[in-house]
Amino acid sequence: RAKHEGRGAIRLFTSAMDKQLRDRRALDHDLRVAVERGELFLEYQPQQHRDGTLKAYEALVRWRHPVRGVIPPGEFIPVAEQSGSIAQIDDWVLMEACREAASWDQPLRIAVNVSAAQFRRENLDAHVRRALRESGLPASRLELEITEGVLIEDIARAKKTMQSLKALGVQIALDDFGTGYSSLSYLEAFPLDRIKIDRSFVMALGQSDRSLAIVRAVIGLAHGLGVPVLAEGIETDGQMSLLLQEGCDEMQGYLIGRPRSLLAAKDGKQSRLCAVS
Ligand code: C2E
Ligand code: MG
Ligand code: MG
Ligand code: MG
Repeated sequence: RAKHEGRGAIRLFTSAMDKQLRDRRALDHDLRVAVERGELFLEYQPQQHRDGTLKAYEALVRWRHPVRGVIPPGEFIPVAEQSGSIAQIDDWVLMEACREAASWDQPLRIAVNVSAAQFRRENLDAHVRRALRESGLPASRLELEITEGVLIEDIARAKKTMQSLKALGVQIALDDFGTGYSSLSYLEAFPLDRIKIDRSFVMALGQSDRSLAIVRAVIGLAHGLGVPVLAEGIETDGQMSLLLQEGCDEMQGYLIGRPRSLLAAKDGKQSRLCAVS
């Protein structure tokens, strides 16, 4: 009997895996035509300085699937990374975000997430240069967000890639800091313009002394190296005041503003309104 049940369990398991695989394939297939069909769109989340002024927007991609509705990036970026369709998506995001930012009245920064696959690409700097040229956005207003993972893979190569990007004049932020294989030596080895403390540490602020200790240490270290710190995922006034007290330079999170479409808000005044919503 036990043997029988065991086999049933295995069959159930494999059919679940089958379904997952089929879903993934279907998603990947749909994704390949999503860019051409114009199904991707960007939302923008404000980043503000500790003095309350709006500094930047982070571009966050979404997919309006014809049947499944709006799909968040966490569900399709990993699929695209594995299948190779990521390059097309990343190119579209970069171009679209630069165009959007170039149309703003205020010279705010635009932060764009760069996937690991994109960062590893041979000619990333050429793609970035082209997006800047075609959009007319000054390089100093573009910030690329990379994660720790891409830095440890191949340090020599990562350094070269970063230097080629810095040579264009763009800024580089280290995203989700603290969640990867954090090595403090990156901070010294790479020319970073900003460190983003991951939401998981911010979430625990006020509830655990340990997270406060980590946040304090990251800010102290970054400042010691002359690198400003941005905290992401701020949702409460309590988190905000602790971060201000610890000397955090910039803030991002639902408390300041949710990611939203800027289609109807192209001029500076309305952009400012977006920041306080
Ligand atoms: P991320 O770069 O760390 O982006 C921040 C994520 O946290 C966003 O989720 C944002 O909506 C969410 N968030 C911001 N503030 C709060 C808050 O106060 N509370 C909570 N609970 N969440 C908050 P989203 O848009 O689902 O993006 C998830 C991840 O997908 C991003 O993490 C980024 O790694 C990736 N991603 C997003 N857009 C792109 C893109 O255009 N290209 C690539 N390669 N990756 C992208
Ligand atoms: Mg990001
Ligand atoms: Mg982040
Ligand atoms: Mg994050």
